[in-house]
Amino acid sequence: MTPRQIMPLTPSRMSTDDIIISRKNYHTHTRLCKHASGWIDDYCQAALAQGVSVLGFSDHTPLPDGRWPSVRMTLEELPGYAGAVHQAKTAYPGLTVLAGMECEHATEYLDYFRETLLGQFEFDYLIGALHSYLYRGEWVGLYGNTITDDQLAAYADHLAAAINSGMYAFIAHPDLFGVPLRGWTPGADACSRTIVEAAVACQVPLEINAYGLRKKIIEDVDGCRHLYPLRRFWEIAAEYDGLQVVVNSDAHLPEDVWGNTDDAISLAQELNLHVVNDTLDEDIRIRNARTTTDCIHFTQQE
Ligand SMILES: [Zn+2]
Ligand SMILES: [Zn+2]
Repeated sequence: MTPRQIMPLTPSRMSTDDIIISRKNYHTHTRLCKHASGWIDDYCQAALAQGVSVLGFSDHTPLPDGRWPSVRMTLEELPGYAGAVHQAKTAYPGLTVLAGMECEHATEYLDYFRETLLGQFEFDYLIGALHSYLYRGEWVGLYGNTITDDQLAAYADHLAAAINSGMYAFIAHPDLFGVPLRGWTPGADACSRTIVEAAVACQVPLEINAYGLRKKIIEDVDGCRHLYPLRRFWEIAAEYDGLQVVVNSDAHLPEDVWGNTDDAISLAQELNLHVVNDTLDEDIRIRNARTTTDCIHFTQQE
C-alpha cells in the first residue's frame, strides 16, 4: 500500500471473486468538528465528481455533557447540521445521501443517541467509535499516550460493549489502538480477537479506515507502518468466518470523499475479507424499519 495515490474513477474490482464494489462512503466529516474543512454541499459535489454513489455524513456528535468539545460541533450546531444533511438528500439527483453521526461509546450516552440523534433528528445511522477508552474508571486517550496489555484489554472490552449495544451500523477504525502501540504484544493479539469475535457474534461490520493511510508513517520496532489500519489486526480478522468489513474514506476534506479508499479495498482483497459496502445502505434502511436494535446473538466472554 502507498499512503496516497490518485485513484481511477472506475469502480474497484475484487479479483478474488470478481465482485465490483461501488463507491459508497459512509464516513464523512464537515468543518463543524473543527479539524475538517468544507460543508455538506462541497462533499456532495466532490462525491458526484469522483463517482461516489452513496455518501454518508457522520460528523463527530456533540455530547450532552459537553465532553471533548475541541473535536466536535456544539449541541447548538446540531439542528443546523441535521437539517443541511437531510436537505442534501433531495438536492443531488444521482447521489444517495445518508445522515449519520460518529459517536463515542459510553453507556450514559445511549439514551441521547437513541432519543435525540436517531429519534428527534432522524439520523439514518450511527457509527460507534472510541478515540478514548475507559481504564479503571478514567478516560484514556489513544493519542498522546502509550498503551499496556492491561489497557489493551480495557480498550477491547469497551469496544466490545459498543458492538454489543446494538446501537451502531458499524464500528470505525477498531484498530485505532495502533496509535499508542509500539511492538506487537500478546495483549494486542488478545485485544484484536476480543473485538473481532464480538463483531462476528453481533454481525456488526468493522471498518478499514483509509484516513489512517493518509496520515504519517511511524517507525515501530518491527519496521515502518501506518498508525492504522494495523495489518496484523486485519490478518487476525481474516481468520474468522462471517466477519463483515466496511471500507471508508473518513473524509475530512471534500477532495478526500473517496480519497485512497481503494487502498483499503486492496488490503481487504489481499486478505479475503468480506466487504459489505454494496449492501450496507440497504441494511441501514432495513435496520431502521425494525423496532429493536438489541443484539441477541452476543454472549459476553469471561
Ligand atoms: Zn475526525
Ligand atoms: Zn471519523
